[in-house]
Amino acid sequence: AATAGCSNNKPLKVGVENNFRPFTYTEGGEIKGFEVELWQAIAEKANIEYELVPMEAVELNEAVTSGEVDLAIAGLTVNKARKDNFAFSEPYFETGLVILTTADNTDIQDKKGLAGKVVATQTGSSAYTYAGGIEGLKEVRGYADISEAYNQLKNKKVDAVIFDERSVHHFMQTTGDGKVKMVGEVLNKESYGVMATKESRYIGRINQAITAVGNDGTYESLYAKWMGG
Ligand code: GLN
Repeated sequence: AATAGCSNNKPLKVGVENNFRPFTYTEGGEIKGFEVELWQAIAEKANIEYELVPMEAVELNEAVTSGEVDLAIAGLTVNKARKDNFAFSEPYFETGLVILTTADNTDIQDKKGLAGKVVATQTGSSAYTYAGGIEGLKEVRGYADISEAYNQLKNKKVDAVIFDERSVHHFMQTTGDGKVKMVGEVLNKESYGVMATKESRYIGRINQAITAVGNDGTYESLYAKWMGG
């Protein structure tokens, strides 16, 4: 029999990412980050029981499509191509793509400076699609884990990385260690949403909860904690 006060639904499976700092990442066997805590607050408001399923970013689309997870919250950029295949919540984070290059690079000051250069990014990401559309690039190299793209840059095996601004910022302030710099303007404005199949029954409730965590100060305090202002 179902437990009193609770439907007989099983907890939802929610896909998150192993290495999208500071939003969702695994460290010392724990799943952490801004989105992990934001989702917890959203789920409480929406009365959703869930368990997190961490994976690589490249696996998320397939995991949602196949039903291995019911939802994904992992810095997923809402864009036209994805909206053809998935449902998204209202956006909860505004951001964009940026260029990272080595600290001593003088050629690359903006997008134009990427002509003839090798750019690394995460395979299948919005940045991967964007970089593929920049005219005159020598090559776009995709890595399943963005840390590998950052390492390639740090070791001067590639000329630049294009990726999500907050991830780049986090790398610069930690492992980047003075060896890299962000250049130019934000290339492409993007926003993140919770992703589900088009048949999902949860998007409406999630949207209400996103509004609620915005109104009661929860969002603001999580933002301050994880984004450091
Ligand atoms: N925002 C990027 C995308 O949606 C990267 C997301 C991620 O790596 N988790 O493709």
